[in-house]
Amino acid sequence: MTVQTLHVALNERSYPIYIGGDLSLAEYLLPHIAGHQVMIVSNTVVAPLYLARYRDVLNEAGKTVAECILPDGESYKTLESLNLIFDALMSNRFNRDCTILALGGGVVGDMAGFAAASFQRGVHFVQVPTTLLSQVDSSVGGKTGVNHPLGKNMIGAFKQPKAVLADMMLLGSLPDRELSAGLAEVIKYALIGDEDFLVWLETHMTELVARNPAKLAEAVYRSCAHKARIVAADEHEMGERALLNLGHTFGHAIESYMGYGQWLHGEAVAVGMLMAADLSARLGWIKAHDVVRVRNILRDANLPVNVPDIAPDDFLTLMGQDKKVLEGRLRLVLLKRIGEGVITREFDLQLLMQTLGNKTP
Ligand code: NAD
Ligand code: MG
Repeated sequence: MTVQTLHVALNERSYPIYIGGDLSLAEYLLPHIAGHQVMIVSNTVVAPLYLARYRDVLNEAGKTVAECILPDGESYKTLESLNLIFDALMSNRFNRDCTILALGGGVVGDMAGFAAASFQRGVHFVQVPTTLLSQVDSSVGGKTGVNHPLGKNMIGAFKQPKAVLADMMLLGSLPDRELSAGLAEVIKYALIGDEDFLVWLETHMTELVARNPAKLAEAVYRSCAHKARIVAADEHEMGERALLNLGHTFGHAIESYMGYGQWLHGEAVAVGMLMAADLSARLGWIKAHDVVRVRNILRDANLPVNVPDIAPDDFLTLMGQDKKVLEGRLRLVLLKRIGEGVITREFDLQLLMQTLGNKTP
């Protein structure tokens, strides 16, 4: 498979994302390792599968390699886990010239990135995302951080990596549900900004679900290109970047109602996008058959399409807890048409309540 390179344009913080299968580490990883010390941050699921190959290549290149293997899961995305990374860096006497290499999904990437942003006020960071979600979402944009008991991602920093290696080979071992959760974010990019991409996804969804590496690489490339463009225009999330929250306000309500961990984030976002489409149709912006189209692409990606049984008033309360509530008024991302998202406060509350009451949009 040919390797595609996408440049994320952020002036002096610009960096390449390499997208391919079985990427040559000599060619794509080593040139981005600064200094002699490399800390590989991974977790107990990913490390046994993939870490040795990275360690060996780095050792052969004369680097000093240390490892920090964190417990697996969102519940460990904490300051305590972050401290384990600092412990490893300090006890191995890592200096300011070191590189932190994240090998894992979004949880590992966010924590390793935050460690890289803050250890000695900032060291080099390279990311190898191992889930589809982290390849298309968390590896672009530079957001890093950990959760606080009172809120998700509440403590963090912006930190751009030196390079990202998105290797389709790593996705072979990903559980089916995690693959589909990543596809939800892929579909999101098409819905908010690119109808041609949606047509492509409709044509190739069977191959994507079957993990055809070339098709996955194409989907990752197009998704990252969209996110990179939006992030370059709005690095610190003042405006357009909010479009990336399509389905997320509804989705967060579902996640918190079900209890975090029951539904994967991408699954909740999938249903949330369908609800956003339902409301957009009630507003007369898109047609009923557009909503069917959204439902079908989600179903083909093996994502849920039925809204959990939450009373509309409770649903609204759960949405109100969301951080995207600005100046006391709910801002939603809706669809002006398929392939064009809008950030709007201009919707009728009655229509919103109808959407919240519709369990099979
Ligand atoms: P995750 O990191 O928890 O990975 C999901 C599961 O898959 C985990 O159990 C993990 O160990 C396992 N796994 C990872 N790679 C694997 C592989 N190749 N083979 C087999 N198993 C594998 O979850 P995620 O969906 O990758 O990321 C979610 C996290 O990302 C959340 O914490 C979220 O806040 C964050 N996030 C950050 C950004 C950002 O901009 N920084 C964007 C989106 C999401
Ligand atoms: Mg998301």
